[in-house]
Amino acid sequence: MVFRRFRAQYLERSVINTLKEILIGTHNRHKVQEISHLLSDLPVKVRSLNDFPEVMPVVEDGETLEENALKKSVSYAKSTGLLTLADDTGLEVKALRGAPGVFSARYAGEGCSYKDNNRKLLNELKNIANGDRSARFRCVVACHDPAKNESKVVVGFIEGNILKEARGQQGFGYDPLFFVTSCQKTLAEMTLEEKNRISHRALAVLKAKEILKLYA
Ligand code: IMP
Repeated sequence: MVFRRFRAQYLERSVINTLKEILIGTHNRHKVQEISHLLSDLPVKVRSLNDFPEVMPVVEDGETLEENALKKSVSYAKSTGLLTLADDTGLEVKALRGAPGVFSARYAGEGCSYKDNNRKLLNELKNIANGDRSARFRCVVACHDPAKNESKVVVGFIEGNILKEARGQQGFGYDPLFFVTSCQKTLAEMTLEEKNRISHRALAVLKAKEILKLYA
């Protein structure tokens, strides 16, 4: 009985909170910057996991980007009571049969840096000619509403080519190696605004935004 009343109060509080605040389920400041910029016209306060130091990071051990994105959004939404967006992104290189894919973050091993990953990628592609270095980023965004215990998943892609050396200082991860032909720039040579006009994450978040508008 007491539990039911507590649960009812919790759910009610969640509904109210979801209308005012949403959570981006990541500590990654680059992702927070990109996603916050994309959501800046919504009448909601956008929080990130950096505002909730007590929330433990989930282990990203899913076999697919979808599994990881869902796991993160459900777990962080339950911990905070906030409607939560979480993305999981993979770089899929055709000549490597889709690798590093779901292993993009730890391609060069557990605890590796972006530089380590880029070095490994360049090494794996060292014998691959310019015309055969096509790749895409796939970004899966899961949106979980803790009040309804309901999840939705959307996906965004960007096509490009992996260069033979890094170019640009902006962005993060594999951005300096990812050349977008239509812009004649790597993602790391773009401003935040430019990347957000075309990127995998931007396209997925714009789809997620349509879902958020139903709540906001
Ligand atoms: P996550 O598991 O979604 O955080 O991302 C996996 C890895 O993919 C990250 O550690 C980055 O190296 C890379 N990554 C994710 N998103 C991007 C992006 O927008 N540009 C470049 N690299 C990215």
